[in-house]
Amino acid sequence: MTANWKFSPAYYARSLNVLETALNELDAYKSWRCFDPGREYHVDARYAAMPALTKKDIREHFPEGFVPADHDVKRGLDSGEIEFVTTSGTIDISVTNIWNQKWWDASERASWKLNSHANRFAAGSHREAILGNPRNVGYISDNFDLPMEKRRLSRFLYLNEKSDPLLWSPELMDRMVDELEIFQPAIVEANPSLLARLCRYITASEKTVFQPGLIVLTYEYPTNFHYQQIRRVFDAPVASSYGSTETGYVFMQCEEGKLHQNSEYCRVDFQPLKPEHGGPLLGRILITTFNNHWYYIVLFDVGDLVRIDGTGKCPCGRNSGLIVSAIEGRVADATLTCTARLVTPRELDDAVSVLESVDKYQLDQVSADIYELQLVSQRPDKERLSEEATESMKKLYGKEAKISVTYKDSLSPESSGKYRISRANFPVKIDNYLDERYTLNKRLF
Ligand SMILES: [Zn+2]
Repeated sequence: MTANWKFSPAYYARSLNVLETALNELDAYKSWRCFDPGREYHVDARYAAMPALTKKDIREHFPEGFVPADHDVKRGLDSGEIEFVTTSGTIDISVTNIWNQKWWDASERASWKLNSHANRFAAGSHREAILGNPRNVGYISDNFDLPMEKRRLSRFLYLNEKSDPLLWSPELMDRMVDELEIFQPAIVEANPSLLARLCRYITASEKTVFQPGLIVLTYEYPTNFHYQQIRRVFDAPVASSYGSTETGYVFMQCEEGKLHQNSEYCRVDFQPLKPEHGGPLLGRILITTFNNHWYYIVLFDVGDLVRIDGTGKCPCGRNSGLIVSAIEGRVADATLTCTARLVTPRELDDAVSVLESVDKYQLDQVSADIYELQLVSQRPDKERLSEEATESMKKLYGKEAKISVTYKDSLSPESSGKYRISRANFPVKIDNYLDERYTLNKRLF
């Protein structure tokens, strides 16, 4: 496979520096030394020979295993330069990380260069309103509402303090609309499911709303329905930002709609899936962080699938780093067709989005050929909708698929604070789907 994307000499220098430090100085990567083909090999080949870092590895070696000897964890904590943060969710997904605010901010600033609207509106001191789940960001208060001043932090305003939008009253949503008008943020950063919920309310109540310079979607997978509902209310540009607590900012969607790698702050290694599961353009990504001397993350498996852009070009002209045409969603949320082909959340989302007037949905695969689709919809002709949904799901999963469609008033987020749109009730192990021609010491680039 050939690709047109380019990497700067500095990118390779950082890649090499991080790998050498990890292998030579850090306990977390000691066991990887035996995989290293050696310094005479190209740095990409050396990365390709390594295993992936998992959350389990982070738990086992945290924190000292990730910090070089010239940085003292206790001193860093005492001085406030770093802190420990634990992500919410079940034991499988929850992990404690070293948080380095300065590095995080620098990684975010670098990502803004990848979108011309962000570059224009995000000066670093701009006002930002955040509509996230307080389990992930901001202040939590399910039992009583917090006044605006209790939800401010430097240049940020957290619009939501409830862990479940089921707790949002009309008054609370009116308050969010009013606060956007008062605060006049340059950027609104939002969890797409929450912004879509607010937008459905704004549409139904025929309110007008303040338009920021840019809306940045982050934290969870944005569905086609989310985009439709947000577009009815906001005409501001919308960009998707992709990253994680472990990796900082990895991809930013440019004004042309493609996602560009934040290659000043991270390395991305792409591993294609087998052709019968959507490879070689569809695959998983392993992230290595740059410039964070408090926390060396190498080849971290973020658990997401992406579709890389086959042309390796974008009309915006940016060409440093990987160009991704779509984030395809979490491996943990993937399902299988009746013939056991992998279906990414994005492929499912495209199939569901042919349905009209659906607020949200969730698909559970119970077994090899049994699928349960839950819909939230105001449509009166539910029988017709069920037929359309069944037809669409059979087209995706196979004629022999047994589809049930049920209706819900609402769907709640997971304990992680994020919505999921799909999941199989059995483990989908990524190793079974990766194309071995690329993972067995084969260079991709
Ligand atoms: Zn672009």
